[in-house]
Amino acid sequence: VLLARVGTGLRSETVRRTNLSVIIRELHFGGPQSRSALVGRTELTRSAIRSLISELVSADLVAEVRAAPVGVPGRPSTMVCPNAEGAVVLALDITVDSLAAALIGLGGTILASARVDRPPTHLEPSEIVADLVSLAEPILREPAAAGRFIGIGVAVVGVVRRSDGLVSMAPNLGWREIPLGRLVAAAFDGDAPVAVANEADLGALAELRRGAAVGADDVLFVSGEVGVGGGVVVDGRPMIGAAGYGGEIGHMPVNPDGLPCRCGSIGCWETEVGEGALLRHAGRRPDGGREAVDAVLADAAAGLPRAVAALDEVGRWLGVGLAGLVNVFDPELIVLGGFFGRILPRVGELVDRELDRRALAAPRSLVCVVPAKLGVDAPMIGAGELAMEPLLADPARWLLPRRPRLELAGA
Ligand SMILES: [Zn+2]
Repeated sequence: VLLARVGTGLRSETVRRTNLSVIIRELHFGGPQSRSALVGRTELTRSAIRSLISELVSADLVAEVRAAPVGVPGRPSTMVCPNAEGAVVLALDITVDSLAAALIGLGGTILASARVDRPPTHLEPSEIVADLVSLAEPILREPAAAGRFIGIGVAVVGVVRRSDGLVSMAPNLGWREIPLGRLVAAAFDGDAPVAVANEADLGALAELRRGAAVGADDVLFVSGEVGVGGGVVVDGRPMIGAAGYGGEIGHMPVNPDGLPCRCGSIGCWETEVGEGALLRHAGRRPDGGREAVDAVLADAAAGLPRAVAALDEVGRWLGVGLAGLVNVFDPELIVLGGFFGRILPRVGELVDRELDRRALAAPRSLVCVVPAKLGVDAPMIGAGELAMEPLLADPARWLLPRRPRLELAGA
């Protein structure tokens, strides 16, 4: 938007800040590249690129490295590289059965990370935040954490208001109306900005920027765990709705005569395709978790009829829901994460058949269904992207002397 207005008389300072943002985004998403590649991709002039890069180099956000030519005669070319340790974020992930923390640098480099299992029971928010602090403590003592600290990103299995990180509902954690953003800010450095979002939304963001959907603009991300989460990307931007509650496709009503859902409704898509549904159809306890799901997959691979039928039933309902979503969003790509990604080789044909039967022919013919690439770390990586956003949006704010490293409250 700013770029489009340049011709109509924006102050040159605004132009400079916007262009710095364009360059830093190119390097953060595209990785090391030559100056001429940057000229080509940004359509900025060679001299503008030179001066912007020199500003970013003196701020230690970017490094210029002379790359030895590989098997090609001629001058070594200079590559412009994002400096991972020049700007860092802390990414946190609260899932049903694990907690994770990572220090992520500019360019998306994971500099340090840790994940621990947690019992899938309800815990007080203060207990979980305290566990996150213990998990993050050694990570924040790494030398790489001395880099310019941009902020904290948190992925959580719940419905989140983006403006202040309020978790309005997280049935799997037993939370209602929890001010998670505020709790995390208080437990860490009160000054560090904290951004909280739904973990499926952040998984989608990560797959879009660094995983299976790189280069795609209209993507539907559907992840099957205990709950069914989703993220919708429209025209290159995550769709979050008016307050950040959007994209809860697991709670799309699909079966008026269905089972009660954890959200309080009846017959949500999640009750037909979630982990619980798969296990129920397979004759197992619906709360058996990841191990039980793996056992069903193994049984199905061995040809046990009940397991095969359970996968078929989930595959069919998966196709039914996806067909409706294809008609609404016209995505070019559907990325299936969580156990959906793992069962795709077995249920792909059924999903395709339901899409063929139920989706409108034109959008159906354009859409591909692929498994997610980033696995269990996708939401954590997305939380890092969310936390890095203020730097990407306006790097000029960080060209001043560095802020000291993040200190734990009371440390
Ligand atoms: Zn529901």
